[in-house]
Amino acid sequence: MKFGGTSVGDQDCIGRVVKILNHYHTVGNELCVVVSAMAGVTDQLHAIAAEIEGASDEPPIDTFITSMRTRHGKVLQAVAPGEYDAVMEIIDERLCNLENILTAVYNLRELTPRSRDYIISFGERLSALIVSAALREVGVSSMALNGCEAGIRTTDRHGCAEVLPESRTHIQSRIIPLLGESVPVVMGYMGCTGNGIVTTLGRSGSDYSAAIVGTAIDADEIWIWTDVDGVMTADPRLIEDARVLSAVSYHEAMELSFFGAKVLHPRSIEPAMQKGILVRVKNTFNPEAAGSCVMDTSTRDHRVVKAITYIDKVSLINITGSQMIGRPGVARAIFSALGEYEVNIMMISQGSSEANISLIVDDEHLASALAALNEVMQRGSIQEVGHDRNVVAVAVVGVGMAGTPGISGRIFTALGREGINLMMISQGSSEVNVSFVVKQADGQRAVRVLHDEFGLAEETE
Ligand code: ADP
Ligand code: ASP
Ligand code: MG
Repeated sequence: MKFGGTSVGDQDCIGRVVKILNHYHTVGNELCVVVSAMAGVTDQLHAIAAEIEGASDEPPIDTFITSMRTRHGKVLQAVAPGEYDAVMEIIDERLCNLENILTAVYNLRELTPRSRDYIISFGERLSALIVSAALREVGVSSMALNGCEAGIRTTDRHGCAEVLPESRTHIQSRIIPLLGESVPVVMGYMGCTGNGIVTTLGRSGSDYSAAIVGTAIDADEIWIWTDVDGVMTADPRLIEDARVLSAVSYHEAMELSFFGAKVLHPRSIEPAMQKGILVRVKNTFNPEAAGSCVMDTSTRDHRVVKAITYIDKVSLINITGSQMIGRPGVARAIFSALGEYEVNIMMISQGSSEANISLIVDDEHLASALAALNEVMQRGSIQEVGHDRNVVAVAVVGVGMAGTPGISGRIFTALGREGINLMMISQGSSEVNVSFVVKQADGQRAVRVLHDEFGLAEETE
């Protein structure tokens, strides 16, 4: 069971989490828990790290450490008064390590990817101690483990490390002996390299940690506890009548998360899918609600389109050049240069004239992508590279779309009727999604129009 940042955001939330865990433990389940940092803490760690790297005056490191101590101490006191002194001692030790690394970064004015990962892992290092103490307070034996102690071994790609296959046996040997009597609490979001250097798994990475741990221990189910009733037909913050989907397939969930449905991390589905483990998404604030099941397609409903997602932190890159026509090596030159710069490409489309290739990359990768393409341009393979940050990618997702004619027609007719101009279109060969790019200003309206067009707010399951 994984609990996200909002689910462990304050003492009342942690109280709810303990109640849920105590219940499922008491009725005889073996449980392993993965927790995120308390809501907002990871953002604050990122912000302070960036601030001190460029600080000209003495940065507010003391104030920062004190505010972290106050917030976590207050919650600990409320949920585990009997453990307060012992656990606060560990928290103080951790905060002392954090203060030291922040001071070192300030003195050197140098924030390496390694030191950043170490710093931003502190949210989980603190929250897991508190959740584990709160479980002991109600009589459930528990210990907190950091990602490394839990056996999560990763590549050294700091900031978005990938979990290595060897983690499986490490996790099994660390976690399985603890199950049953006790309920271990693993710090999400972090792992370590073979040399024990701390890495992080990318924003929202605790879902990925949960999937890895759950798969390694051959869990019957992986439960993602969050702040909404399940995977919905659209982001409820955007579409007020979005509806909970009781079942989605692994492929649908992957497409949805890849195209911005924040409720699941894009990498969190694949491990579970490989093993056929059911992933359940449930609401910590409404535990009675059934939630959503992510599983094989066998139980798919008759709906063709299931959900619409939207991702706004993306940029469109247009590559043009008449030299590209009929020259087989050009695409290779473009994509290998982008690969060398570690650019993650979200969408690709090529005009039939071959004189134009359009790409969508996330904003974070735009600068590297332009640098890579500049190299290709200097070698003369392409002529011009333009980009536009004011765009969003929208994806229409549903396994039933494969083999149902006319879906794309409906999508583009509906958008056309509303005067929404399409800048790029792409359809995966799996036909689980049709995605397109529009101006930022049209993004939310496009989601709304399609949510209505396919009647997603209506209960038909
Ligand atoms: P956690 O802290 O529990 O990991 P997140 O904030 O990462 O929670 O993810 C939950 C949020 O994802 C929801 O509050 C919701 O606004 C957003 N979200 C976006 N798209 C969807 C969707 N299709 N279904 C459900 N939630 C979605
Ligand atoms: N705390 C991390 C983040 O905010 C990981 C997570 O919440 O899943 O990105
Ligand atoms: Mg999340």
